[in-house]
Amino acid sequence: MNGDLLSDLGRTLVEGSLTDVSVLEQTAGPVQQILPEANVVKIGGQSIIDRGAKALLPIVEEVVSNLERHQMILGTGAGTRARHAYSVALDLGLPTGVMGVLGTFTSMQNARMLHYLLAKHGIPFIEPIQFPQLPLFLIERRAVVFFGMPPYTFWQQNPKVGRIPPHRTDTGSYLVSEVFGARSMIYVKDEDGLYTADPKKDKGAKFIPKITVPELKAMDLQDVVVERAVLDLMVNAQHGRSVRIVNGLKPGNLTRALEGEDVGTLITAE
Ligand code: ADP
Ligand code: MG
Repeated sequence: MNGDLLSDLGRTLVEGSLTDVSVLEQTAGPVQQILPEANVVKIGGQSIIDRGAKALLPIVEEVVSNLERHQMILGTGAGTRARHAYSVALDLGLPTGVMGVLGTFTSMQNARMLHYLLAKHGIPFIEPIQFPQLPLFLIERRAVVFFGMPPYTFWQQNPKVGRIPPHRTDTGSYLVSEVFGARSMIYVKDEDGLYTADPKKDKGAKFIPKITVPELKAMDLQDVVVERAVLDLMVNAQHGRSVRIVNGLKPGNLTRALEGEDVGTLITAE
């Protein structure tokens, strides 16, 4: 490579080592927002879809009523069926990566169901290989459905504790919002947001409307409302500096979140 063709950064990268911190420091800088109008909306598996018609159909209606005003990338959770599959796989001694495969297919079942409910509105189900067509779908149809699991199946990292894949559908959806510089990341679940404890188990749990990741980590809660990997990934995020959790069992909450209103819990990187 003729050195004249290269910028200073180009020369550093071509000649330097990509594991050298001083080289990596030079690669910081502003990043494009690829889909700044898109909202990534994760519809909970266990919290919403597994509850069937009474929970999911009003959300489908709310999605449809928002198509005119908002672009939505709809991710689905894997829910109870994945947990059952994980329990069998754990019993059989199968590794985390194999459970990553199982979670992918369960969240795909939920994505297919959501997709067929939205099909008459022209909303496609897309797999990761079709993500390059996402901009066209969003402009033309305003929404797509995908399975929330990150598509790295066997390549799931082992968790610090136990064997369940640490990057599941909350994380996969979040990573889509981060890479495309989406307008928002909204989790639609079955509680008003984050509490000081799981409100299903602790009636005294207190609602937290707004919190930063360092504050949340300092609280060292026994359980939280989103996958912990999301909180870890937010620390180094370029765009995905906040996520919102809303109660999808209450009509209007998704719309309010899409409108940028203060509903549910807002978790910010700092
Ligand atoms: P999803 O259906 O999106 O996968 P999950 O069921 O994994 O959602 O997570 C949402 C659930 O997390 C809630 O239904 C709630 O019972 C539970 N949860 C655990 N800890 C908390 C907490 N600190 N605050 C709120 N909810 C919590
Ligand atoms: Mg979950």
